[in-house]
Amino acid sequence: MTSLVEFLALWAAVYVVTFVLYIGFGAAFQWFAHRSPERRIQKGRYGEKRKWKEIRQSAISLTATCFCLAGGLFLQYKGWTLVAPLDLSWWSVPLMFVVSIIAFDTWFYWGHRLMHWPPLYKHHQFHHRSVAPTVWSNYSDTLVDAFVMQSYYLWAPLFLPIPPVVLIAHRLYDHFNGMIGHSGFEFAASDITRVPSPMVCTLFHDQHHAHFNTNYANFFSFWDRVMGTLDKDYDSGVAHWTKVNGAPEKAAGEDDSRATAT
Ligand SMILES: [Zn+2]
Ligand SMILES: [Zn+2]
Repeated sequence: MTSLVEFLALWAAVYVVTFVLYIGFGAAFQWFAHRSPERRIQKGRYGEKRKWKEIRQSAISLTATCFCLAGGLFLQYKGWTLVAPLDLSWWSVPLMFVVSIIAFDTWFYWGHRLMHWPPLYKHHQFHHRSVAPTVWSNYSDTLVDAFVMQSYYLWAPLFLPIPPVVLIAHRLYDHFNGMIGHSGFEFAASDITRVPSPMVCTLFHDQHHAHFNTNYANFFSFWDRVMGTLDKDYDSGVAHWTKVNGAPEKAAGEDDSRATAT
């Protein structure tokens, strides 16, 4: 009984913090992005009209996302995992952070492809109502969809010795990365977000919403490149946005010579 109360308290705390970070960051990023209309990726499509619908759905779906993180942390706290989390040290923190985001990206790619499989797609369809996603779209999905994709935070601590603080840092990174990745405004494009680098910018997941059956991964383009599901216009699109992002600071000639020299 005490354990149940403890878990419910943790779940509620994780939910409140996540929801506040969702609304606060969403409002701040929206204000910031709308000052640069030229950075809008899908010109003429205004996903903002779905804002209140998406916030309402996010308030529901975040219960599943936060259940998974609270569940994983609770299992560690109780010692109910197959491996104990590593102690915090100069090497365990960065190592487990990198291991965790690589493991999550792999889970996300294959889980996401599974959700696009026709018998399961009905659970993922809601998320794709946002054809031109905005900063509010990240959690606009069904409870089943959210649980499948976010269950990583529940099961990963069973098998991986991720320190709790690293699991929380991973979730925070995913939170902000996911919100920016859905924002529909490109500020992150650079030479390190296209081939041969596995890093991605906002365009990556925006193309998943616009074109539907490309770019299934989350943090990296690695799995999409290996499996042949990368959007054919991704790398050229990043090159275009890199120029747009660099335009105010650099002359076009300088940009071109830098691009060929590196
Ligand atoms: Zn999808
Ligand atoms: Zn999405």
